[in-house]
Amino acid sequence: MKSVILPGTLVNGQPATLGVMGGGQLGRMFVHAAQRMGYFTAVLDPDAASPAGRVSHHHIQTAYLDEQGLARLIQCSAAITTEFENVPAPALRTLGAQRPVAPGADAVAIAQDRAQEKAHFTRCGVPVAPHAVIETAAQLAAVLGESSAAQGRPKQASAPPGGSAVHEVTSVGADLFPGILKTARMGYDGKGQMRVKTRAELAAAWDELRQVPCVLEKMLPLAAECSVIVARGADGQMVNLPVQRNLHREGILAVTEVFEGNVQSALAAQAVAATRSIAEGLQYVGVLCVEFFILQDGSLVVNEMAPRPHNSGHYSMDACDHSQFDLQVRTLAGLPLVQPRLHSPSIMLNLLGDIWLAFKGVPPWDQVLALPGAHLHLYGKLDAKPGRKMGHLNITGKTVDEVRANALAAAKILGIAPF
Ligand code: ATP
Ligand code: MG
Repeated sequence: MKSVILPGTLVNGQPATLGVMGGGQLGRMFVHAAQRMGYFTAVLDPDAASPAGRVSHHHIQTAYLDEQGLARLIQCSAAITTEFENVPAPALRTLGAQRPVAPGADAVAIAQDRAQEKAHFTRCGVPVAPHAVIETAAQLAAVLGESSAAQGRPKQASAPPGGSAVHEVTSVGADLFPGILKTARMGYDGKGQMRVKTRAELAAAWDELRQVPCVLEKMLPLAAECSVIVARGADGQMVNLPVQRNLHREGILAVTEVFEGNVQSALAAQAVAATRSIAEGLQYVGVLCVEFFILQDGSLVVNEMAPRPHNSGHYSMDACDHSQFDLQVRTLAGLPLVQPRLHSPSIMLNLLGDIWLAFKGVPPWDQVLALPGAHLHLYGKLDAKPGRKMGHLNITGKTVDEVRANALAAAKILGIAPF
């Protein structure tokens, strides 16, 4: 991307419009951020009731690979981004031939595939969980018979940013059991994953996942989880949000806590450096989130990346002077990036459909909003389902203690288990 797209200018005879592939809640919050800066927006999503489609100037309601739909998105947009990683890479290539597209199809294609993303992390010198790729019956047999086919953590994590530096991947011969079998593609919120305690369970699990390409990952002893969001411009300029400490329940993000000291400072610095080198290695343009495990021995292992804003970054909408969606708008429009500042400690609670189901209707938002520093974000989804992300609640305040007390009070009102 070379050009800057200023809000309010005319591009090809129409008001500067930013396009997004996908109309979920991430697209909706991108649209809100873009509109606040004065851009027009266009969303391509097949669903008439998509959260972003409902609030965008243009909603192109076609399949992601529909040629006419893509042509219309190109026609109305000055630049195009994506809000979910499973947008077909060929669609991004079609768009990219005519308009600036960020992130680019190549980076998205790597993030779409757990095997490829792990290979990228390893190239960047960032340790991954011991794992084996299972795409064929022969690979399955190799793991069942002799797990020395497993790829382990690099012996030396020594790639500088940008790094194609030399690193060594050792065959650790590690036992990958108990492990988690994850489909290489299309997984989210813990879907497409099966825990396998023994070798005997592995073959059955692979059958259950219809023998699609998978990664078997060793189950690691986690002390905590964290994530880091960076934004990188086409000119290589990069900024990051502070490290997020995340609590997952049943494979779904439940709580994110962000304040000074949420993660031990040396680990936090390591996670930020690793994320920057992963983005640099992809020559990434846009917002990227990398998720990490903090192990009980105090070491850091990368889990996965998302080539877009991330649920764990939603606190930034109320606790930072530039949110992850503001950063996405800036990277797409070629505007300067400014290092965001956390101006308040914060805790984010995810609001899943289970809450609506428990209340048999609308939860008591009036009680929640009586709490100091409570910011409610609902995505405009009308039907609640178990595990469905309906919204989130950000709590900000003067001190960590105050934020925690109010977040726990909100959780109690909503029937969310304490954390
Ligand atoms: P999403 O894309 O929504 O973040 P996902 O479906 O891609 O989720 P993962 O991030 O792979 O799933 O895993 C979800 C959660 O399961 C992790 O955040 C972690 O709590 C747990 N988990 C996954 N892999 C491991 C592992 N190797 N060892 C221990 N826990 C794990
Ligand atoms: Mg994850």
